[in-house]
Amino acid sequence: MTGLTGKTALVTGASRGIGRAIAERLGAEGALVAVHYGSNDSAARDVVATIRSNGGQAFPVRAELGVDGDVDTLFAGLETGLDGRPLDILVNNAAIQDYDATIEAATEKQYEHVFAVNVRAPLFITQRALTLMPNGGRIINVSSGVTWFAIPEVVYSMSKGALNVLTRSLAHTQGARGITVNTVSPGVTETDMNAWLSDGEAAQAIAGLAALGRVGKPADIGDVVVFFASDDARWVTGQVLEVNGGLFLGPRVER
Ligand code: NAP
Repeated sequence: MTGLTGKTALVTGASRGIGRAIAERLGAEGALVAVHYGSNDSAARDVVATIRSNGGQAFPVRAELGVDGDVDTLFAGLETGLDGRPLDILVNNAAIQDYDATIEAATEKQYEHVFAVNVRAPLFITQRALTLMPNGGRIINVSSGVTWFAIPEVVYSMSKGALNVLTRSLAHTQGARGITVNTVSPGVTETDMNAWLSDGEAAQAIAGLAALGRVGKPADIGDVVVFFASDDARWVTGQVLEVNGGLFLGPRVER
């Protein structure tokens, strides 16, 4: 138990996948959770209902990121839901992957969009969140293992590299306020972003790359994010934690 009763949290991209798992766990630990999402109203409603049915508190915040005025829209909904309370925990989780944005095929438009959602939005959400955050607050950025292993979709991996840099800089500048800033870096995790995992052979091949021998589940990531949000992680800041079941630890050869 991490004991977040009385705390408030914003999780971006909380309607599905990893963000949903983070929001549900934060709600179970007692935080009031702002469940942000882009367009999938029914998925967001379902997350809010699940948190409430487990005795927690949550409200939805709809705001498409990567468009003009996105941060204003998000904070209008957030501040209405918080109703004058501060924001203790920010989780920058929402992101998009563009499987066409390779070095051969990426267009400037694809680049602008991926960076607007994955980099510009978390930067300016954080800027605004810091005005609502008391000393001792928590910021957790959800990055990716593609910052250290190579994939063809270079635009996505570049955007996640930028997020890791943001974490380090923020941890440095916000330390004086006792705000910790960390990155959780998932490996391959079963979500809608990885629809290709529904191919059993692909899933098996990926599982074989991890020491723990399976693909990640959203809760595997969510539980670690909530650790960083908790008082237990009070002395950890500026770090990137790889949460991937031991991906690529070495060759797996039968002897
Ligand atoms: P996902 O299943 O595709 O869910 C994405 C979430 O982000 C949804 O809640 C979605 O809202 C929201 N979202 C997407 N684009 C948005 C936009 N333009 N504006 C507002 N909201 C938007 O993603 P996921 O796999 O859980 O990924 C979560 C995080 O983990 C991301 O940062 C991702 O890069 C990272 N990650 C994932 C994996 C993996 O294997 N899945 C691996 C490494 C890192 P709607 O429901 O409204 O569309």
